[in-house]
Amino acid sequence: MARRILIAGNWKMNKVQSDGLALVEDLVGRVKGEGAAKFDMLVCPPFTLVSKACEAAAGSAVAVGGQDCHMNEKGAHTGDTSAWMLADLGCSYAIVGHSERRTDHAETNEQVRAKAEAAHAAGLIAIICIGETLAEREAGRTIEVNRTQLLGSLPDGATADNTVIAYEPVWAIGTGVVATPDQAQEVHAMLRAELVSAKGQGTADAMRILYGGSMNPKNAAELLALPDVDGGLIGGASLKADDFWAVAQGCP
Ligand code: PEP
Repeated sequence: MARRILIAGNWKMNKVQSDGLALVEDLVGRVKGEGAAKFDMLVCPPFTLVSKACEAAAGSAVAVGGQDCHMNEKGAHTGDTSAWMLADLGCSYAIVGHSERRTDHAETNEQVRAKAEAAHAAGLIAIICIGETLAEREAGRTIEVNRTQLLGSLPDGATADNTVIAYEPVWAIGTGVVATPDQAQEVHAMLRAELVSAKGQGTADAMRILYGGSMNPKNAAELLALPDVDGGLIGGASLKADDFWAVAQGCP
């Protein structure tokens, strides 16, 4: 089943107006010049740049997303941003459950699931991140950990249209150590099989599962060619237009 590749950039806590908006404008120009691109492109800037990024990308094929969202629509949650606020600015995606959120803010599967439900209710596509630590991999717990995170974080209402899964081994994020194709495909195939049980064959066949963790222009083509890898969630290599674009050119 043909799933459209998604090339998603997670800028994390990087960039200010000058270089951030120049990056969006650069990517908008490249996607336009490409004509019928083989991939969907998404950038997830820090919240300070979301509004202007949405303006810069308006009418283009570059989508904009938040890096997180609160599980409530509004209320007394100082410093937080709701999915509805992201949608109001023009976002179409929200990342939820990134390992840095799970670690820095002790987010649980239940909270990630509630955030994904909020994203859906606000009309956003939720990118649900999961992944094992090095200690969990070395203890032989990779499959169990990812299965538990997937099933614990996936809303009942998840469909292939409103949900993307991102498998991001924690030991590969920002380390320069990338999963081997065999390691990535093993987990992605397991996730696909779990989606069949949880959501049925049709949804599982259509739902995109991204790989994230030190994806770069050198390793992207090999990873993106794997049967169950449907794109990348890219941190460091999404901060420079040439690198991010080169990753996208790795699409099969
Ligand atoms: C990420 O932040 O989701 C990520 C995969 O980062 P990096 O590409 O830098 O490893």
